[in-house]
Amino acid sequence: MIPECPRAGDSRSRSRFPRTPAAEPSPGRAASGLLSEITTTINSEPFTDHYTILPGKELGRGKFAVVRKCVEKCTGHEYAAKFMRKRRKGQDCRMEIIHEIAVLELSTVSSRVVNLHQVYEMASEMVLVLEFAAGGEIFNQCVADREEDAFSEDDVKRLMRQILEGVSFLHQNNIVHLDLKPQNILLTSSSPLGDIKIVDFGLSRMVCSHQELREIMGTPEYVAPEILNYEPISIATDMWSIGVLAYVMLTGISPFLGENKQETFLNISQLSVSYTEEELQQLDQTALSFIQMLLRKQPQDRATAEQCLKHPWLQSSESKESQTAEKTLTVEEQEPPGMTSSPETPGSMSTAEEKEERPMTEELIVMAAYTLGQCRQSSTSEKDALAAEQKAISKRFKFEEPFSALQEVPGEFIY
Ligand code: ADP
Ligand code: MG
Repeated sequence: MIPECPRAGDSRSRSRFPRTPAAEPSPGRAASGLLSEITTTINSEPFTDHYTILPGKELGRGKFAVVRKCVEKCTGHEYAAKFMRKRRKGQDCRMEIIHEIAVLELSTVSSRVVNLHQVYEMASEMVLVLEFAAGGEIFNQCVADREEDAFSEDDVKRLMRQILEGVSFLHQNNIVHLDLKPQNILLTSSSPLGDIKIVDFGLSRMVCSHQELREIMGTPEYVAPEILNYEPISIATDMWSIGVLAYVMLTGISPFLGENKQETFLNISQLSVSYTEEELQQLDQTALSFIQMLLRKQPQDRATAEQCLKHPWLQSSESKESQTAEKTLTVEEQEPPGMTSSPETPGSMSTAEEKEERPMTEELIVMAAYTLGQCRQSSTSEKDALAAEQKAISKRFKFEEPFSALQEVPGEFIY
């Protein structure tokens, strides 16, 4: 007998979420930044009464969740089921799962955020039945060894626009700390390259004007300096991660990755990033300027998602050939961050702002010039050797490397 199909659509429809940006606390918003009200029906019947979990490899796995592909018995549709433990490290984390559900609910209207279909609850687990993103993580293209498997710059532009649309939507709803990294950005299909779907709001929080949010957590290579300094988290914190993401998507290089987490944190806090990598030199100047307007130490100096969408790099898809020819600049010769020769737009900086930015710019360049292994333009053979060595280390990601000792920095990191 075919089991009755749960009527998910009854419990949550797009029209039931005419939400306005929630800047003030509401009964549904807890002081911790966690949303506590959801409208999705929580099913308590056995999950497997309604879904067949497809055998074989899981779709993915995080610290507390396993995601498996499943098929809804009554429709034959494929979904991704995110199984989440309710107790983590001896603590009840149901509230955090409810928050993740609430964020997915308010994002129903955004096509850039994965859709939530249903929720099931068992004794020790909850299952989020999500739209299946068949193309998997963009991580795969970021680390692709073969040129033809990696993103082209035009791919990155299109996908980055979509990521920014999703981020802009979430920020307008005051949802921040999105844990933006290649593992949480999925594709509807990989060949041909589909559209992006942002997943995983387990670390996200809702911010409001009169309450500061400071939490030490995230993924080491993507965390912003203010997280390391235990300073307030804001939408700008995510914009830093977007800068890292753009760098990674374009080059396959994780810009702040050190040999160990301490080195990674040092690189982040010192803004020690190389803009002279060979891969970056193949890009046009506007791509660099895009990254440089995000990788800024002061959160207030970073562009917003809306400004990014207006940046010249994402405005045109014209050939980069003409601009790459002269890209054999030394560190000293490089244009300062945020400055391009492109026309002014709300996404680029005004002349006055450019002037104000100069001290910051110089600091950045000096960093790049003296940080070991990051100055590929250095003239001495010793430095060249160090640069080559560093490149070999940081060329590809090491997300799975053990990241155990966290005594130096309080709080929790997800890796
Ligand atoms: P965690 O909170 O544990 O990091 P995620 O929500 O990020 O869990 O899911 C873990 C992994 O599972 C993702 O990195 C991705 O590879 C895979 N995954 C998650 N959601 C989907 C989905 N909707 N479709 C396909 N794969 C998914
Ligand atoms: Mg994740």
